[in-house]
Amino acid sequence: MRLFVAADLPVQVHEALCETSAALRELVHGRYVAPDSFHLTLAFLGEVPGSQLDDAIAALEEACLGQGPIEVALGPLGSFGRARRATLWQGLARGVDELAGLAGDVRECLAERGLAYDATLFVPHVTLMRAADLSAGTLPMPQVAKGAIETVTLYRSDLSGERPRYEALHVVRLQAPPDQDWEGNLS
Ligand code: ATP
Ligand code: MG
Repeated sequence: MRLFVAADLPVQVHEALCETSAALRELVHGRYVAPDSFHLTLAFLGEVPGSQLDDAIAALEEACLGQGPIEVALGPLGSFGRARRATLWQGLARGVDELAGLAGDVRECLAERGLAYDATLFVPHVTLMRAADLSAGTLPMPQVAKGAIETVTLYRSDLSGERPRYEALHVVRLQAPPDQDWEGNLS
């Protein structure tokens, strides 16, 4: 199965991305990501045998242990690849270092269990378009919004249909450890 780990987006952030995507449709030709598929990838595992699914879940649980919600704010648009067939995305103005830390922990916990992942440099982004023709020039001003990322999910990606489908296999809630007083009692 084809697996990846992604941070799930706060509702206000999702709404802003929907608006940016709608504005892009007026200006840029390409393949749009469906709004119900917007996500922020932390680690891409690729093909993993079903027998290693439990290891992937355990790695995700361990990486997120003691990690509280992460405040993020949307930032500018960016792109990867060639100008006529670009991947167009919206990046973050806030939360980059915190997400990079979490992505690093996820990747470390995967590696400890012998699970491979794509080790390219982590650039937090939400893909809005693929095969985008950016040669015409104008891009819209992206909508911005902020909110807290509260869950991280292990997804199965199915590319057999007309558009990619992502199935949530395991969801982990980000919860800071409770405060302890000087005697070690939990409040
Ligand atoms: P499609 O490949 O049909 O355009 P997709 O890229 O959304 O669809 P997947 O290829 O299964 O679907 O990728 C799932 C997620 O993992 C996406 O966020 C994608 O950007 C990311 N991803 C895919 N391949 C890699 C890779 N080699 N390195 C890092 N991230 C990747
Ligand atoms: Mg892909």
